Amino acid sequence: MRYISTRGAAPALGFTDVLLAGLARDGGLYVPETWPKLTPDGIRKLRGLSYEEIAFRIMQPFVGAEIENADLQAMIAGSYGVFRHQAVVPMKQLDDNLWLMELFHGPTLAFKDVALQLVGRLYDHALAKRGERVTIIGATSGDTGSAALEACRDRAGIDIFMLHPKGRVSEVQRRQMTTIDSANVFNIAIDGSFDDCQDLVKAMFNDHAFRDRINMSAVNSINWARVMAQVVYYAAAAVALGAPDRRIGFSVPSGNFGNIFAGYVARQMGFDLAPLIVGANRNDILARFFKTGRMEISGVEPSLSPSMDIQVSSNLERLLFDLYDRDGKRLAEAMTAFRQTGTFAAPKESWGRIEGLFRAAALDDPGTLRAMGELYRTTGDLIDPHSAIGIHAAAACRADRESPIVALATAHPAKFPDAVEKATGIRPRLPEFLADLYERPERMAGLPNDVRAVQDYVLSHRRNDRNG
Ligand SMILES: *Cc1c(COP(=O)(O)O)cnc(C)c1O
Repeated sequence: MRYISTRGAAPALGFTDVLLAGLARDGGLYVPETWPKLTPDGIRKLRGLSYEEIAFRIMQPFVGAEIENADLQAMIAGSYGVFRHQAVVPMKQLDDNLWLMELFHGPTLAFKDVALQLVGRLYDHALAKRGERVTIIGATSGDTGSAALEACRDRAGIDIFMLHPKGRVSEVQRRQMTTIDSANVFNIAIDGSFDDCQDLVKAMFNDHAFRDRINMSAVNSINWARVMAQVVYYAAAAVALGAPDRRIGFSVPSGNFGNIFAGYVARQMGFDLAPLIVGANRNDILARFFKTGRMEISGVEPSLSPSMDIQVSSNLERLLFDLYDRDGKRLAEAMTAFRQTGTFAAPKESWGRIEGLFRAAALDDPGTLRAMGELYRTTGDLIDPHSAIGIHAAAACRADRESPIVALATAHPAKFPDAVEKATGIRPRLPEFLADLYERPERMAGLPNDVRAVQDYVLSHRRNDRNG
């Protein structure tokens, strides 16, 4: 399997190079040159298999010969063995033909664990094989930071530094990062905003001498391997509910468009899916795009679902690549113009083809609280604000009640206890393994918003030297 850049001007690469590169050199995102296909019979053969077995069969064609099958299987077993539910991503029935798939049973209680647990292992495996080590530096406003730290902790080839804006992440989120007791994990609270943290990371990437000296890397949401690992639960849910002999729907609370793009990939691989439903909060640029074919950037407003407080969804470029009939040059021009003008209009010739594959609904904060309260009253279930938006969008956009529809639950309710309590009167409890989170000692450094200070800290604390 070869991967090509959405901007058409970077070399085609194999799976491992794409994994380690993240972003392509021309600023584009890597996508498979062709989509591996499953026949209806191939899909039927997934029935009754464990999540781990489905994961192997779905992902193996994307990896190709670059990783031994036994190694890939061992990494899959390791990744999903740490999930706290035997089914890994269990499904619960909420209503006639409406299902909730819980993607939050991993170590940090958000769906990002599903992909990052595997990516951490894939990274370590690739580095060991090449005899290399990396220093990962990231910035987080919440969920990604803890999921990345948990995925990289204790891995021989990796040191990881995570910057967060001091005093501006929730206490649960901060503690999930700062209580990780591992010699290769470093938390830094920056005196500044999330944007300041991101700018510091960018500045370090642009300092080529520094970047080369520490073999700097990132685990960000545009990494292809994260999308690949997410395709698995669409396949598992579809098969459990009767695919390929029934058409299955999905509703997904969306921010960077990584999760729902994996649903699009499942469709390209041969799963018969109803139009994928995009759930958005008040930052509804994605929802408006699928209704009008146009995007206009405006400011980001804070909401009860902070992981979706995003303007430009980075993974959308992978869908736009298909919208431009995989013409990277034309897409590169369109993306440059988008950056300059803040507006984007889908090309008319191909919009009809993509438009029919998605539906969208947005929900503001009062609506989100109502949706959480209503579900609690009718089923007794507590859900987090992101998942509530997905459930609302499923009800608002589903085409019929005969086909099953799966709403993806992306975070455990205890990750957002204030919103859950406001909506239902009940304060959700952390699961047993995190019950003492508030008593565990925290480890973090506090640094000014100054790139030299952060670089000095990284250089004096990392364990790794480029050459071993
Ligand atoms: C990251 C995140 C999302 C958004 O997922 P994307 O892949 O960025 O669209 C939704 N809900 C939660 C809880 C998240 O952490």
